Amino acid sequence: MDVSRHSKWRTPQTRHCGFPVVKSRDGMSNRLLAALPASDLDLLEPELDTIVLDQDAVLSRAGDEIEYVVFPHRGAITLMIDMADGHTVATAAIGREGAVGMLSVLGPSPSATTAIVRAAGTASRIPASRFLGVFNRSPAIRRMVQNHVKAMLMQFQLGLACNALHPVEARMARWLLQLRDRVDHDALPLTQQALSQMLGVRRTTVTLLMRKLRERGAIRSDRRGLIEIDRRQLAAAACECHQTMRLEVEEIFSASSDPSRAPVLLEDERTQGRKSGNVR
Ligand SMILES: [Zn+2]
Repeated sequence: MDVSRHSKWRTPQTRHCGFPVVKSRDGMSNRLLAALPASDLDLLEPELDTIVLDQDAVLSRAGDEIEYVVFPHRGAITLMIDMADGHTVATAAIGREGAVGMLSVLGPSPSATTAIVRAAGTASRIPASRFLGVFNRSPAIRRMVQNHVKAMLMQFQLGLACNALHPVEARMARWLLQLRDRVDHDALPLTQQALSQMLGVRRTTVTLLMRKLRERGAIRSDRRGLIEIDRRQLAAAACECHQTMRLEVEEIFSASSDPSRAPVLLEDERTQGRKSGNVR
């Protein structure tokens, strides 16, 4: 069955480009932070530390309590599911449009995923307990969490459909583009081992897929640990899911910046917040 005719997801029309670079008045490039009103960013800033995201660093492990909320300014992180038999698969890519560990506001519970840095960068970090305190005080920060949750659910759901319906070559192209959106260059610091873990396929399958993508000009070179891509060719090789995910994230950001489209619940919360000074 051709599900695309019944899908709510828009057919991508725009040429591929990465997520825009934004900066808050304090030079923060994380879009969630940059979109906050100054007074709400002021609540967070005393608690934020700037950290370096080292290549291949593990930010948090599945099963561990979430200690920090991490807002990347540069670089890319993937969330990985670790199966009992040792297999792994990536469920989401996160960069300057999102955060890692934000779901800790839902209550203390072990992380379901392992977060691994796939492209080095920098981030701001806040202890999860401190973030919860600010979350309870600020409707704008609650709205930020709401937007992030929307974007993550969209990525999880589309990723699930993609894994079930689209060929592995198109999925690999999709992952490469998702990472490219979060860095600002076409040379992705990825080993075949990392791709194998992200896609949940054998190394030999990755080698075969790399060869196919190189033959069609989507990968220019594949030196050890560095994959240089051609974005246009790679976009032609990818399924529509990459562009759909990217457009959905832009839609969430543009809706949140338009007061007329803000969720009604948040207006209620704002009123309640003025009354009680602390809404949960
Ligand atoms: Zn797909």
